[in-house]
Amino acid sequence: MLDRAIEEMREMVHGSAAAAVLTGAGISTESGISDFRSPGGVWSTYRAVTIQEFLADQEKRKYYWRYKYETIPGMLEGEPNSAHMALGDFYRRGKLSMLITQNIDGLHEKGGVGREKIINIHGTNSEAVCLSCGEVTGIMPVLERITRGEEVPLCLKCGGFLKPNTISFGQNLVHEDLLKAERSVQACGLFMALGSSLIVQPACSLVDIARKHGKKIIIINRDETPYDHMADCRHPGPLGIVLPLITGAA
Ligand SMILES: [Zn+2]
Repeated sequence: MLDRAIEEMREMVHGSAAAAVLTGAGISTESGISDFRSPGGVWSTYRAVTIQEFLADQEKRKYYWRYKYETIPGMLEGEPNSAHMALGDFYRRGKLSMLITQNIDGLHEKGGVGREKIINIHGTNSEAVCLSCGEVTGIMPVLERITRGEEVPLCLKCGGFLKPNTISFGQNLVHEDLLKAERSVQACGLFMALGSSLIVQPACSLVDIARKHGKKIIIINRDETPYDHMADCRHPGPLGIVLPLITGAA
């Protein structure tokens, strides 16, 4: 049985042109992704390394890569849950105009959303990037080099420092990605914020843009958000159950 809010959201989704969707950590917790730094875990005391420290200090680079080496494979083995799959289905039916995600776990790609419709606003752990020449490669060959004894892998093209292709503390978001995200919200038929607490940028500003352009807004998040009053419909989820109900084929 559908509760009234779910029925309302379903009508909104089916009555609108393609939606721009923002996702946050809440959509991946059902895949166990948040467990990496759980209390008592080996890396529960990990101290974040800023981009400035990474660039300046070989010991920080070693420490950072060691952490990534230990945690990325588990993250990349995570399986998309029914919420990710629902978005994949939504994409295949042409209903998804853009997917902007704060997550770095690569689960939307695995869930079937085409890469051309995904903006990884905080980057992704599935790639490595050279901080000198910008060359992007898959992360696994780089991790294999660490297995073979390299502590700080360098770019095979130019010798620059490689780093997982995520936005580190102290590092700016990619300007083109931000513009693309903002434009997609301005042009969408409906804006949905899923599993995001909406307390960090650019998530907050995207809701403001949706509001300013008169878009219908759906917010699904376990906890309340500072933007709930702007939503045409707000629901606590869980996303794995609610999202397939509202986005599923009629
Ligand atoms: Zn390079």
